[in-house]
Amino acid sequence: MAATLIDGKAFAAKVRGQVAEHVARLKEQNGITPGLAVVLVGEDPASQVYVRSKGKQTVEVGMNSYEHKLEADTSEADLLALIDQLNNDPSVHGILVQLPLPKHLDEDLVINSIAPEKDVDGFHISNVGLLGTGQKSMVPCTPLGCLMMLRDHHGSLSGMDAVVIGRSNIVGKPMAQLLLGDSCTVTIAHSRTKDLPDVVRRADIVVAAVGRPEMVPGDWIKDGATVIDVGINRIERDGKNVLVGDVDFASAAERAGAITPVPGGVGPMTIACLLANTVTACCRANNLAEPEGLTA
Ligand code: NDP
Repeated sequence: MAATLIDGKAFAAKVRGQVAEHVARLKEQNGITPGLAVVLVGEDPASQVYVRSKGKQTVEVGMNSYEHKLEADTSEADLLALIDQLNNDPSVHGILVQLPLPKHLDEDLVINSIAPEKDVDGFHISNVGLLGTGQKSMVPCTPLGCLMMLRDHHGSLSGMDAVVIGRSNIVGKPMAQLLLGDSCTVTIAHSRTKDLPDVVRRADIVVAAVGRPEMVPGDWIKDGATVIDVGINRIERDGKNVLVGDVDFASAAERAGAITPVPGGVGPMTIACLLANTVTACCRANNLAEPEGLTA
């Protein structure tokens, strides 16, 4: 393998360390403990795992974790009433509603009922608009994690050609906005893109957020490019259940200058950035200086 491995697990541990230091300072100097409320509706097994993991890591960095587990048949009115209560609770600085929600609940309505300054997932339409216009916002966690790793590896991204494969609201679009904000020349590719291999071959930075196992082979990668693989795909290989990304790691690592693995790349950064967003939200709510390096 020629490429440098970008170790998301180690980087996430570093981010959590920075968050923990800032939390300790907030407690000591200001008597404030940041609090994150996570709302889970129903019993989706994957969501339960995520929520447990988020709660555990929140406590580990010294913040308060408030978990609200609601029945799968909870009415929209009851869910909105809980969000209203959390919006008005000064001990709660971040609110996250675990997605997907059961079908009878309107996700857009629910997300847009969260106070934008407490929307630590960065999905509220106000935060989407603020990010799109280059203003201070809450930034979606997965793209924020990708940006942090890219900045750490390259320093400045200015003038680089970046291709984001995928145009979802939670990864592809905000990722493209962030790269544009750092003065990359950005192309967003999707399922209708013509000659995707050719588009990818021009990129200094490739961010793959598609959800198709090992779709990007090494011969699409320009020599020396940086590859950020957001994909998490579970497949059967040699009779085993394994996790792979959207990039064929083995062949891409032969061409890339640097690459994130799956698992252990972007994945661990997502919760670390959720914690970073919560401490940022807490500082903003109290008119205190934000931690450096933990926001876009
Ligand atoms: P979506 O399904 O919402 O979006 C996938 C995007 O990929 C769409 O824009 C789609 O294009 C595009 N696409 C699909 N097929 C192709 C193709 N053949 N060629 C080019 N583009 C294609 O997925 P998400 O953005 O939510 O997630 C993407 C991946 O990232 C998933 O594997 C997911 O599990 C993972 N993920 C990982 C996270 C982490 O913490 N590491 C967090 C969030 C997601 P079109 O719009 O035209 O349909």
